[in-house]
Amino acid sequence: MRDFIYTANPARVIFGSGSLGRVHDEAKRLGMERVLVLSTPQQVRSAEHVSALLGPLCAGVFAGAVMHTPVGVTDQAMQVVAARNIDGIVAIGGGSTVGLGKAIALRTDLPQIVIPTTYAGSEVTPIIGETKDGLKTIQSASRVLPKVVIYDVDLTLSLPAGLSVTSGFNAVAHAVEALYARDGNPIIDMMAEEGVRAIVRSLPRIVADSSDVAARSDAQYGAWLCGTCLGSVGMSLHHKLCHTLAGTFDLPHAETHTIVLPHALRYNALAVPDAIRALSRVFGHTDPARALHDLAGALGAPRALKDLGMPEHGIDQAADLALSNPYWNPRPLERDALRTCIAGAWDGDLPPFY
Ligand code: NAD
Repeated sequence: MRDFIYTANPARVIFGSGSLGRVHDEAKRLGMERVLVLSTPQQVRSAEHVSALLGPLCAGVFAGAVMHTPVGVTDQAMQVVAARNIDGIVAIGGGSTVGLGKAIALRTDLPQIVIPTTYAGSEVTPIIGETKDGLKTIQSASRVLPKVVIYDVDLTLSLPAGLSVTSGFNAVAHAVEALYARDGNPIIDMMAEEGVRAIVRSLPRIVADSSDVAARSDAQYGAWLCGTCLGSVGMSLHHKLCHTLAGTFDLPHAETHTIVLPHALRYNALAVPDAIRALSRVFGHTDPARALHDLAGALGAPRALKDLGMPEHGIDQAADLALSNPYWNPRPLERDALRTCIAGAWDGDLPPFY
C-alpha cells in the first residue's frame, strides 16, 4: 500500500426521496432561527416551498443567484443578511446557488444547509469561485463548507435531460482528475471509480426517461461521490483548461466540462495507467477517453467548443494562457500537445494518442 494523507470534509448527508421534508428539523438542529433561503430566479418557486417548510424559522427568500457568483449579487444578498439579522442559510439549486451561499458564509461564517438540484458537486467542496469585473478568482476555505446536505431525488426530476447529461459529465470530470491527482489516496480512488460508474450507468436511463426516479437517485449518489473527490484532492489540466476557456470565451460551465473531458483525458492518458485501468473497468473499454466522447455523442451532448461560440483563433490563445500560468499535471504541459488537445475540443474530433 502506498503512503497517503486523507482529510475528510465534515458534512451531514441526508439522502432520499422526500428528504426535503427534514429541512425544518435540520435548521432547528443547527440552532437557526432566522433563515435566508437562496435560489436562482428560475427556481424561486422551490425556494418559496422551502420557506413554507421552514415556517417561522424563515426570515426571507433571496432568488437572485446567477452563474459564477458575481460579487455584486453577493453584496445585494449581504444587505438582506444584515437587514434581517439572518443566522443561517438554506440554498436550493445548482452550483450557482450553492456558490452564493458559500460567498455569504465566507463573509459571515453563517451555517448552511444545501439542497442540490444538479450534479455539479459544489455542496461538498471547500472551493469558492467569485467573479469581479469579469475576472473569476478561486479559493479554498473550510468555512464555506455546508453543515448539512439534503439530497432529495424528487427535486432533480425537473432538471432537463440535456442539463442532466452535461451536469453529470461535470461530476465525472471531478472523479477522473481525482484518479490521477498528485495528492490522491485509495479512499478517494474508490469514491471516484464508484462515482463515475453510478453517473455513467444512470445518464442513458435519464435521457430515455427523465422521470426515472431510480436512475436519478443513482446519478445523485454519483454526484455526491464525485463532488467529494473534487473537495478532497487537487485538480489539474481538465479543470484549469475549463476555467480558462469558460472565463476567456464566456462559455457555459457544464457544457465546457463535457466537451473538454475526453480531450484532457487523452492528453494525460499515457501518463496515468492506474487511472486508465480504473476507468476501463467502469466503461468496459480500454480507451476511456474514447468511451466518454462516444457517450457524450450518444446522449446528444455538445462535443465541439466551436458550437458553444468559441472562435478558432481562441485555440492558440487558450494554449498560451495555459502555459502562462503553469500548474502540476501528470503529463508536463507541452505547447504542441496542448494545442492538439484544445484544437480537438474546438473541432469535436478526438485525436488518436499523441
Ligand atoms: P446552475 O446552478 O447555474 O444551474 C443551471 C440552471 O438550471 C439554473 O437556471 C438553475 O436554476 C437551473 N436548475 C438547477 N437545478 C434545476 C432543476 N432540478 N430543475 C430545473 N432547473 C434547474 O448550474 P450548475 O452547473 O449546477 O452550476 C454551475 C456553477 O457552479 C458555476 O458557477 C461553477 O463554477 C460552479 N461550481 C462550483 C463548484 C465548486 O466546488 N465550487 C463545483 C461545480 C460547479
